[in-house]
Amino acid sequence: MVSLLTNTQQYYADICDEIRLFFTVRKIPVVQEISRQGFCVTHYFTKQYTYCHTAALYYNGEKQQEICYDSGEVLQNNLLADKRAIKHGAKIAVYRCLANYFLQHKPWGSLTGVRPTKMLRDLSEVYGKKEALRRMREEYDVSEKKLQLAQRICDTQSEILKTICLEKDIDLYMGIPFCTSRCAYCSFYAATTTKDGQKEKHYVDALLKELEMLAPVISRYHVRSIYIGGGTPSALSEEELQRVLQAVTPYAKDAEFTVEAGRPDTITRQKLSIIKQAGVERISINPQTTCPQTLPIIGRKHSVEAFFEAARLAKEFNFKAINMDLIAGLPGEGTKQLVQSVMDCILLEPQNITVHSLAIKKGSKFGMENRQQFASPKETEEMLDRARELLEQYGYQPYYMYRQKYMAGNMENTGYTKEGSACIYNVDIMEEAVSILALGSGAACKRVLPGEKKIERFIGLKDIPSYIERVQEMAEKKIALFGEG
Ligand code: SF4
Repeated sequence: MVSLLTNTQQYYADICDEIRLFFTVRKIPVVQEISRQGFCVTHYFTKQYTYCHTAALYYNGEKQQEICYDSGEVLQNNLLADKRAIKHGAKIAVYRCLANYFLQHKPWGSLTGVRPTKMLRDLSEVYGKKEALRRMREEYDVSEKKLQLAQRICDTQSEILKTICLEKDIDLYMGIPFCTSRCAYCSFYAATTTKDGQKEKHYVDALLKELEMLAPVISRYHVRSIYIGGGTPSALSEEELQRVLQAVTPYAKDAEFTVEAGRPDTITRQKLSIIKQAGVERISINPQTTCPQTLPIIGRKHSVEAFFEAARLAKEFNFKAINMDLIAGLPGEGTKQLVQSVMDCILLEPQNITVHSLAIKKGSKFGMENRQQFASPKETEEMLDRARELLEQYGYQPYYMYRQKYMAGNMENTGYTKEGSACIYNVDIMEEAVSILALGSGAACKRVLPGEKKIERFIGLKDIPSYIERVQEMAEKKIALFGEG
């Protein structure tokens, strides 16, 4: 049990993220005084216009460790910039206090955010690349290995990001929140497909209505990429899948066009044919693992052979790119199993392979049951290192990356690509580089405002019946976000 005593309670969630790097706790109560339990105390103060933080750790009422972090930076009287600086200071102080106490540094240091590459790029724009790297290394304590990875990814992405015109470009996302069964690690709001398909049909009706309402907005922009994601879009019946694709195809013209066909047990020759005929050039087929013992544990109802079969079938259709997702750190798996899964995918010659680190999310079966044995942070790091070495050996290079809360070893998810096959949408969304008009339940719209680099957001209703009922209102909110034109 750890509690928190702080005078910067507005950064409670951020400080707790740092504490959770060292303690396996979900809830961290805020208290008003030090009692006899484990404690983290943070204190913010200013010193001649610069900001400082102290962080201390107590056990049984005794102070075990304390550090003071003085950034030396002057507060700028800019509300947003100062808030950000104070938050980072609090996080760094807590991280250093706990790292010193446990004699343990984390690969990403005090960074707990989703987008380390975006952070590196933003810092580079302000201070130059060398200073940005120094800050990440010395201020945020990011390890040299992770810095090199982030730097390589930024270099690979630069060609893709160069082509963006913020005033004109958008990415178009359509969400299909249905799956054939629930994966044990998933906390995404997705419904299980129904026998009579009525629920899916009503959803597609609403989605197409939303698309129609948003047509005037879309026509004002150049659609840079279309991404049909989920859930599992290929879990729809052939008829519903065709309706979605037919409706969105007029916007495809010169756009990159991707459909997630994630679950191998949803893939048929007929569905692949519908996808191909709609002009889709990229699909995902995601085994997560090729270890047969693991599939039932993670709630997958297909065999490993079904994955190989789906991958072979998809190759017949000559898509420009096929992606395969894997997860490091699944229960009972170690480096040997992950290496085998990576090698099995490599031999199928997909253009992209994405290696995730397992995240134990609150809303997932794994998170709720807390019964499985998971790999240690050190093992996860070794798994990811081995996967990277192997992929690089076979000509794949890392091209996008993101992190999530509650990830094994506080590591990262990395997408790898063969040269020239990087997915534009993945780069755009992870770097928040361009506006995304997202349709469907729970879909997250972002409008990146040119010039200010400010991002305005709107997240639609997650609950499918509520989305269907209030689709008009959802579309109106998105029209308002993107301006009436
Ligand atoms: S296929 Fe994806 S969205 Fe569906 S349950 Fe599994 S992880 Fe969740």
